[in-house]
Amino acid sequence: MHKAQETVLEIDLKALKHNLTHLKSKIQPATKFMAVVKAFAYGSDPCKIANYLQKQNVDYFAVAYINEGIALRQAGITQPILVLHPQTVNFKSLIENRLEPAIYNAKILNEFIQFASAEKLIEYPIHIKFNTGLNRLGFFENDVNYISETLKTTQTTKVISIFSHLAASEDLNEKTFSLNQIKSFKGIAIALIERLGYKPMLHMCNTSGILNYPEAHFDMVRSGIGLYGFGNSEKENLFLKPIGTLKTVISQIHHIEKGESVGYNRAFKSNGFLKTATLPIGHADGIGRQYGHGKGFVTIQGQKAPIIGNVCMDMIMVDVTNIDCNEGDEVIVFGQTTTAEDLALTANTISYELITSISQRVRRIFIE
Ligand SMILES: *Cc1c(COP(=O)(O)O)cnc(C)c1O
Repeated sequence: MHKAQETVLEIDLKALKHNLTHLKSKIQPATKFMAVVKAFAYGSDPCKIANYLQKQNVDYFAVAYINEGIALRQAGITQPILVLHPQTVNFKSLIENRLEPAIYNAKILNEFIQFASAEKLIEYPIHIKFNTGLNRLGFFENDVNYISETLKTTQTTKVISIFSHLAASEDLNEKTFSLNQIKSFKGIAIALIERLGYKPMLHMCNTSGILNYPEAHFDMVRSGIGLYGFGNSEKENLFLKPIGTLKTVISQIHHIEKGESVGYNRAFKSNGFLKTATLPIGHADGIGRQYGHGKGFVTIQGQKAPIIGNVCMDMIMVDVTNIDCNEGDEVIVFGQTTTAEDLALTANTISYELITSISQRVRRIFIE
């Protein structure tokens, strides 16, 4: 293991492989695997991660926006890439980079067909997205006729997949709701396939869907958070390994007397003697202000050191009164023992938000 001398995000590619193997063990061999690498591969490194996963033969990649897909193409990704949330303004770069759009309403369907006709495209791959309860993005059940009639007027596009997204796949209290979504998706898919006259792939499950709803794996599954080591439950987390360890270092140690304050706005005032450590990581690196005031913590010499006072842009101060530590010592913000999920919980948020917030200023280091 590398000993941090500055703030670094250490990315363990062996852990990534472990997670991929575990997730694949949950699906049938014929079921395709789509790796979701949006948002810098959940705050890690999209190009490195996607290249690694491409070598492991994942079938598809997904990103949220067209720009993210372009970056993958420039990094040598040749596998198909689904863009989950494209905007019309970027269609030109979408097709130049052979990115495949999710088509989620009549407006984007018509605009894409119009664009594809002007470009004289033939059977360009598109993915039709349906809303089955998340109420975020997607056509409705009663749009099936409209979609098939519209597609019949043109040779420019071909439906590669029909998909939907579960609203609460990690929450087993919402099982009835999820099963209804699955049922409704099946009905929609059958109706659209019949009208199209051919069978596109079907997919619905994110990571928690893979783990909790084997009956909804269909032809492909889409995993993001699971690849990065989180299963959205204590039980599932045991089988996965967080790939990212965020490390930093003690820049300076201070001895604070009773009545003195620490940090901006004098937000922390000491009741007695205190030893603090100043660390080169702040809200501009992704540790938001909600982790201040004793909520969040880091680990130094295996012990918890709470973040005191306000989180600064480039620094935090932590309480190390009872920790035998020195300037230059390594600090773990989160990793495989104290995970991003544990830290996220202290500020009432989730692993997804914390890991995707780690800013580009933090150097990424890879362990093969
Ligand atoms: C982000 C996203 C996923 C991945 O979800 P995880 O919970 O990270 O596995 C899958 N499908 C869609 C539509 C998404 O937006």
